[in-house]
Amino acid sequence: MTGPRTRLLCLMVLSACAPAGHLATGAQAPCCGDRGLAIAYQYRVEGLEQRRFDHSEYWKALDAALVADRSGRVRVTPLGRSIEGRAINAVTTGVGPTSVLLWSQMHGDESTASMSLADLIHWFAASPDADTLRRTLERHLTITMIPMLNPDGAQRFIRHNALGVDVNRDALRLATPEGRVLKAVRDSLDADFGFNLHDQGPRSAGPDGDLVAVALLAPAADEERTWGPVRQRARQVAAVIAGALQAEIPGSIARYDDSFTPRAFGDNMQIWGTATVLIESGMLPDDPEKQELRRLNVLALLAALESIADGSFESAPGAAYDDLPLNVGLTNDLLLTGGRVVMGGGESFPVDVAVVFDDPIARTGPRYGQIGDLSGVRAVETIDVSGLFIHPDSDLLIRGEPAYLSVRRGVTSGSEQVLRVGAED
Ligand SMILES: [Zn+2]
Repeated sequence: MTGPRTRLLCLMVLSACAPAGHLATGAQAPCCGDRGLAIAYQYRVEGLEQRRFDHSEYWKALDAALVADRSGRVRVTPLGRSIEGRAINAVTTGVGPTSVLLWSQMHGDESTASMSLADLIHWFAASPDADTLRRTLERHLTITMIPMLNPDGAQRFIRHNALGVDVNRDALRLATPEGRVLKAVRDSLDADFGFNLHDQGPRSAGPDGDLVAVALLAPAADEERTWGPVRQRARQVAAVIAGALQAEIPGSIARYDDSFTPRAFGDNMQIWGTATVLIESGMLPDDPEKQELRRLNVLALLAALESIADGSFESAPGAAYDDLPLNVGLTNDLLLTGGRVVMGGGESFPVDVAVVFDDPIARTGPRYGQIGDLSGVRAVETIDVSGLFIHPDSDLLIRGEPAYLSVRRGVTSGSEQVLRVGAED
């Protein structure tokens, strides 16, 4: 798979030209033609370098960044508490007539956008008075951010809350305090726009097998997936985001399945009148802590907010969203094709081997997936091992069992190793 590797190079070039903390204060578009990325680098909140952090670590990092806010631009308001009593806070900025609501980590193990919101909040608090983009947003928008809506899930890095409920399926019953907080804020603001910020399964790919870094959705408001005025606005904001991201990660943006989900927040937000865009951070190669995706979310959200503030989203071509490929979930992380598996007696067999990692982002805990003729089967990464020999550490290859193996040039265990899956004992 060459596509994602090529894009990674592009991202590395970007990071090389925008070192954190070395930009002129208040710089406008100093780097790489994109102000959003420059802001993401300059205002990156320290202490969130790994994608797993808990509620106290998050707010400690954010509070430290908010010390820079001497002008009172940013207000932190307690909204309520989780099942286990952790505070759920709103961070508000701007005085404009258009109300925008953003929330992250309603699934506790989906933390990318919580990092991005921290960086955005830092920028709102600490950028210079003359920053024209921030002033435009403040004048036209009132922005309410709820980072880490599900702190109990974040504590354990699990999807559900402490009751075991998927908060994103609680939009109608409102059994959870987390769901009730979100609904109450939406209603009190009568928010015009919403951003529902998630991480999707890391094995998501487009039709060509390229990894999907970001998937977007203007959720349906009914079974027929009608394009009413609220959903239409969401589509055009999604089109703005797609356009902003295409410049950075061309071919790595997809559209999320738009089947109507009656109990989900995104779909009901549309029904309640809040034009909502779902942003799902996926995976980029060699970005195990999702720091590149963290920056791309800042870029995407700034582009969206600016387009809402200046009204330019209204002229965004819906096709930029409609023409995105549909997101597809893959089953396998790694596929070794064309090689021969060597069994204990030294006999070898022409079978392909798929590997599924327990943690597909960190690529740890390899287990055997499908084995055999895997022509047409797709994986996150496919390696052609034609002419080479796969030497499993175990006597048997059993699907679901740990997959520790070496790929060697010869049939003997002493021949040169060219690839290793799983650490050696
Ligand atoms: Zn989610």
